[in-house]
Formats: sequence, structure tokens, C-alpha cells
Amino acid sequence: MLFQEARGGDKFLLGGKGYGLVEMTSLGLPVPPGFVITTEVCKQYYAEKGKVPKGLFEDIRSKIAALERQTGKRFGGEEKPLLLSVRSGAPFSMPGMMDTILNLGLNDRTVKSLASASKNPRFVYDSYRRLVQMFGKVAMGADGSAFEKILEERRKKAGVTADIGLSPEELQSVAEAFKRVVKAQTGRDFPQDPFVQLEMAVEAVLRSWNNNRAKEYRKFYHIADDLGTAVNIQTMVFGNSGEKSGSGVGFTRNPSTGENKLFGEYLPNAQGEDVVAGVRTPVGMDKVEPGIRKQLEVVATKLESHFKDMQDFEFTVEDGTLYTLQTRNGKRTAQAAVKIAVDMADEGLISPEESVARVEPEMLEALLHRRLDPAATDKPIAKGLDASPGAAAGEVVFDTEEAAKVGAGKRIILVRSETTPEDIKGLIASQGVLTQRGGMTSHAAVVARGMGKPAVVGCSEIEIASDGDYFTTKSGQKIRKGDTITIDGTTGNVYSGEVRMVDPEASKELSVLLKTADGIRKLGVWANADTPEAATRARDFGAEGIGLCRTERMFNAPNRLPIVREMIMSRDEETRRKHLYKLFPFQLSDFRAIFTAMSGKPVVVRLLDLPLHEFLPTSEDLIIELQGMREKHVPASEIEAIEEMLARVRQLSEHNPMLGHRGCRLAVTYPEIYEMQTKAIMQAAVELKKEGKKGALVKIMIPLVADAGEFRFLRGVITAAAEGVLKESGTTVAYQVGTMIETPRAALTAAEIAKLSDFFSFGTNDLTQTTFGFSRDDVEAKFIPRYIQMGILPQSPFDSVDTSGVGKLVKMAVREGREVKQELEVGICGEHGGDPKSIAFFSEAGLNYVSCSAFRVPIARLAAAHAALARKTTAVTT
Ligand code: PEP
Ligand code: MG
Repeated sequence: MLFQEARGGDKFLLGGKGYGLVEMTSLGLPVPPGFVITTEVCKQYYAEKGKVPKGLFEDIRSKIAALERQTGKRFGGEEKPLLLSVRSGAPFSMPGMMDTILNLGLNDRTVKSLASASKNPRFVYDSYRRLVQMFGKVAMGADGSAFEKILEERRKKAGVTADIGLSPEELQSVAEAFKRVVKAQTGRDFPQDPFVQLEMAVEAVLRSWNNNRAKEYRKFYHIADDLGTAVNIQTMVFGNSGEKSGSGVGFTRNPSTGENKLFGEYLPNAQGEDVVAGVRTPVGMDKVEPGIRKQLEVVATKLESHFKDMQDFEFTVEDGTLYTLQTRNGKRTAQAAVKIAVDMADEGLISPEESVARVEPEMLEALLHRRLDPAATDKPIAKGLDASPGAAAGEVVFDTEEAAKVGAGKRIILVRSETTPEDIKGLIASQGVLTQRGGMTSHAAVVARGMGKPAVVGCSEIEIASDGDYFTTKSGQKIRKGDTITIDGTTGNVYSGEVRMVDPEASKELSVLLKTADGIRKLGVWANADTPEAATRARDFGAEGIGLCRTERMFNAPNRLPIVREMIMSRDEETRRKHLYKLFPFQLSDFRAIFTAMSGKPVVVRLLDLPLHEFLPTSEDLIIELQGMREKHVPASEIEAIEEMLARVRQLSEHNPMLGHRGCRLAVTYPEIYEMQTKAIMQAAVELKKEGKKGALVKIMIPLVADAGEFRFLRGVITAAAEGVLKESGTTVAYQVGTMIETPRAALTAAEIAKLSDFFSFGTNDLTQTTFGFSRDDVEAKFIPRYIQMGILPQSPFDSVDTSGVGKLVKMAVREGREVKQELEVGICGEHGGDPKSIAFFSEAGLNYVSCSAFRVPIARLAAAHAALARKTTAVTT
């Protein structure tokens, strides 16, 4: 199909390159004449087990005749020989994977007459030797290294470093030597008949669709094997034909910043391949001859107004005449993607909806955190899980107490085998955290994400020495206390030393894009926040409420943890109440601050879900401590206190703490805990109201419910406490009492629970854990990678919600809950609330909102808009 004859722009039929050439021809851009052999031909070639379809070569001959008429040149002619390129071009870009042959049509005769007619015989012979080399290798199967060896010898002999230094005579003799290599290696002569050259070249390109390189590439990028490649046959233009010639790559806008200004690189007196190969350093667009530059500006405008996206195009200048050779949508950084999308909507090139659809939500990640300089070339020393994004560097500290002390004065990275609430002060003082164990929802991961600090967790490639003074990597490298490391929580990589970083680029375009997204999305976006600072940050990022305030995380502060411990250790209600009510003032002031920060917006306070093992010392630690105390002859009373603690720790210890005495089960046993918390919540709301301040919409949530009976009992406790506070205050404050759905049984009995509960919020961390029976704290580093590698799971179900299993429970619970209460508000507050793929699922399941860590709120806003746009498209097409 001649470029000017093809219609309708079908990338699958014409391939990416062919599609671009056909479109550019129809726009009237200076495309060297040519034609496309479609992917259909390639499919037939393989269907017939590698036989060229009947009539193809006859067709090609008639197209060549048309090209000859169009150009006034003759294929194989001595006077004005028509020279052609034959290039592959699949529907999806597969750079460098398939074959290309240039300068077809040159032979011993045409090269002589061209050289004598040309002002530049060097270039003519260079073109010939390139043809013999490429053709010999690609179409005839000669070994490429033999050619390189000859070239190297000739350069040495002539005393030059680049081929450009060789004389026309030398290049002519190189071409002769190359022909001898072809004959010696393949037993056949380099074909002199241009049509034979062309036919063999077309077949070679068709064959190259199934070479090993291309097959591997397709496997990796999930490109279907049966798409086939098109073959583009095009008149050659020469960028290496003298000083008024050259080749370049242009971007219609700056691919790094998004600035609406022609950007590119140009290499004078060179072919396109030389620009890509990077042997010589190209110059910027500003150095291009003004006349050509002006024409390039026109090309850029035409391309953009047609393709309505930033284009990356290749061009060649031959003796002062410009040709465009290829165009495609340009790759760009996150910053550029946002700016280009917003600017194009502003310019009226695309609709606001399209601008939102153009930016992948995950891309925003790079804009919200400090990150490694993409140009840095450092090699990682270990890899763990990418638990909390962004990069941080600092001196290694293994001990939390020490971290808290030295962290004030210098930048440190806390390295622990895993973290517990005891490590909070160390986390606060450090730039980031690296743990040897733990998964994506482990303590370190959740806390670091909440704080917006980079974290690499579950890094089993490091081994922390038992004396805690150094860690060793898989390759045996020792990193000692005080050594500087860099962690990249976006990739999970760990580096020795300090890697260069770049600051996040917040821009006004991002705000515009997110506002547009807000206008499109149906799903609410709330945030998980446990502190007033996190609540304020969440609000600044655009959260419409707090979907999860984990109250146990409020006890992490160093002055509160001992009280919590004493409360847990208490052996009777009276002692427990005494310690519990010491926490009351802390809770009260926190709730006041959080409600104030979120004024007028909903705040879901989840009552205590205390994983006991996280808040207690281990019995091993206590035994070691006791030994030390005995050796130092510490007073008996102090030893007794620790012994007492050890006895209680042993009594409380559980085989499966995540399935143990936690969540609402603890409150069913000790209702005074929820009573105290409810009083603090309601007191905060009452005080704000009395002070004339706008409080939050209070929603109290019960965790880990598995049975409607648990909910009924605890709702009674909560209501009694709340009403008591209200009665005493003589005022009213509206509040709701709802439940988390985070056990399969809660989902299965959603109808019963919905009769009692004001709202549902899916805790998909625990729901995933309990549905799969996978421990959320252990599995990720242990067997999930193997499952993914084997294709048993597409990815970790803790990263992206398992739609067929956990998702089925979610959909069922929503349906059954709403059958009982039509307007039942349903949200999700597990880590999946910030994952775009999961967000699409929750949107489809009919949830009211997703709640995620504050730093993922912008991503969730965009992902929710994408979900709404996708649903709109499906609605139109089905
Ligand atoms: C959950 O289980 O999804 C949840 C949000 O609660 P947590 O992570 O605190 O157990
Ligand atoms: Mg949970």
C-alpha cells in the first residue's frame, strides 16, 4: 500500500512506523515516498510456514514502478538510481529487536556512476559498504564481527579513529573486502540485482519477527506473538551527504519539563542511526539552520494538531531539504505528562476528560516524594519491598534509643530486623527505615507510609549481626554502624553511600489536573491519619474525610507507651481502669486537634485494635534483661517487677497473635477500654461545639467484628458512654457507630450486621489475610515472590485487591448490606485504598469512598476519575 493510498490509520494493519508515515503523508509533510507491506502479509508468511505469500513480489514490483514515476529515479538505474530502505514496524514499538536494511539498490555499477556524478564520493562508497555489511549480516546470515574487524584494521592503517576519516578509495576497498567476507561465510555472492536484494531484504525482515531477541522482548512486555510486523519500503534520503545535511530527533514539547517548545537533537552530516548510537554528540535545536528550524516548527504544529499528543519524530536534512521519517507519541517524565495534559486541554487540543485520562495515577508518585536522580548510575547492594516511596540517605543506626538521640543532629537511617511501636521515636528521628523482615502491611511499612518517610521492608538480602553493629549483604559486603546508605522506597533498592537525589516537583498544573479529576470521579477519597499533623496533611492533599484513625497508633508516643503497657499488664478491672484513664487526656487532646483539622468533614475513629505482641516486650528480651540484672546484683524488688512482667507476658502470649485476643475481642473482655475512648471522642466533640468551633462528623468504628453479637454488645457499651457524656454536657452532637468488615464471617453475615451498624468500612488488609489464610506480616518476603514467578498469583494480594476472592466477599457484603439499609455508607480503609487497580474495582463494587495514606490521596483522586471514565466508556460501548 503506497503511503498516500492507505486510509483510516489502522496501527494494527500498518504497524506503528507505517501508521505514522501514512498519517504524515496525508498531512502533506515531506515524507520520502514509499509503501507499506501490512502485518496481514506477515501473518500469512507464518501461516504458510515461512513461505512468501503468492503474488507479493509482483505487487512489490508494481509499487516500485509507482515510486519510480513519483521520484523520477530508477531502481537499479545508473543515471539516477532509486535507493530504498526496508524497515520492520510492529504495532507496538520493539526498539532494535527486528531488522532493517538501508541503501538497497546499490551495486557495483550504480555505485560507480553515483560516485562519479556525486560531489561526495566518500559518502557513496560508505553507503555501499554499509549496505553490504547490513545485507550480508541480516539477509544472508554472515557473522557481523568479521566486518567490524576489517573496519578496525583499515582505520588503524589509515591512522584515523572514525570511519569518517577514511578516503573514498579506502571505503571502496572496504566494500570489496566485505563482499569477500559474504562469499566466504555464506558461499553466495552479494546479489547485484536490486530486485533480488529487495526480495531477500523483505523476507529477512519478515523472518526477524520471530528471532529470539524479538520473541523474548514480546514475552517480557506481554505483546501477542500473532500480531506480526509490517515492512516499510521507502526512498532513501541521506543525512550524511555533506555539510548541508544531517539527521535529528525532535519532540514537539520538552519531554522532561513539558514546556511547549520544540525540543530535540541534531547531528550534522550523519544518518539517523548515528544519532541513536550516540557516537558523536548532537547539538540542540537552537543550533539548527534557521530555515530548517522554522520548517520543523511547522511540522511540530501539524503533528500535534493531528495526533493531539506530544510527538517524538525523526527527520533528515538532505542537501538543505527537510524530510520527516517517523513519528510516534513521545515518552515523557511524570512532570511533563501532567503539564502537557493540562496545557493541551487549555489550548483546546484535547478535552479536560482526556487530559485526566492521559496521566497514569502511579506516575504522580514521582512528583510527591524526593527521589533518586534518574541520571544516577549507582548499583544497589540489596533489594527489599518497596514499602513507602521516596528516597532517603543517612548514617546507619541499629538501635532505636540511639536513633532518637543522634537523629536530632544528623541524618540517619534506622535499620532494624523489624519494628514495633517501641521504635516510633527512632522512626521519627530518622530519614527512613530499612527492615530485614515484615511485609507491605507490617508495622514499619504502615507507620512510615503514614509519616511519608521512605521505607524498604522485608529486605531478606541483608543479615543484621547479632551484636547489632553491622549488616552483611548477599555479596558479603559489610555495612557498619555510622556508614552512609541510601534507601529507595519507590523501588525497594538499598545503596551504599549517598546517591544523588532530586526534589519533588509540585506544580500548578497538578492542582488543575486533580481539580478536573475531582469533577469526574464518583468515588470519595478519604485518608488514613492518626495524628493532627497527618490529618492536616491529608486535608492539604485533598482528602474529603478521615476514613481510618487507628487509635492504637496514637499510643505510640514515648510518654504513652508505658501507660498502655501497664494497662495491658493489669490483672484486674480496677487497676486497668486506673491506667486506662491516664490515657484519657491524651486521647481527648488528639481528638480535639484532629476534629479541628478536619472541620466539617467526617472522621472515622476506630476504637482500639491492639495487637498485644506489638505493644509488649518479648519474653526473650525480658529473660536477657533478668540475667543482666542478676549479674549486676540489682535490688530484689526490681528483679521481682521484671519477673512479674515476664510471667504476665507468658500468660498473654499467643501462638497466632494476629488471630488472637485483638480488635473487638479485647473490648468484649474489657469493655472499659471502648468506654474510655468513646468518652474522649464525645468529650472532644462537645467541647468544640461549646467553643463555637466546627467539629468533625463523628463516626465511631469497631474493628475485627466476626459476629453481629459482638457488634450488638459493643454498640451498647459505646452508646451508653456517648449518651452519658452528652447528658452531662447538656448538649447534643450527632455520631454514628459502624463496623469494619475485615473477617470473612463479617462479610458473609453482612445482612445481619447491617441491621445494627450505621456504616461499613472494609479492612482489606485483614480481610486478605483471613480470606487467604496468609499472615500479612510474614508472607511477602517468603513465598509470594515465588508464587508470582510461577504465575500462581499475578501480584501480591496485599498490594492489589484479589478481585475474584476477597473482591467477591466485598461485593456480596455491599449488596446484602444495602438490601437491609439502602443508603448504607460503605468505604474501604485497607492499604488497597491507594492502589489504582483496586480503586477501579471498588468503584465498580459501588463503594462510597476509598481511604488511603495522605501521600497517596492525589493518586487516588486521579485513579477514581480514571475508574469513572472507564465506566462511562463501558456504558457507551455495551
Ligand atoms: C485492615 O485490616 O485493612 C485495616 C485497615 O486495619 P489494620 O491494618 O489496622 O489492621
Ligand atoms: Mg485490620
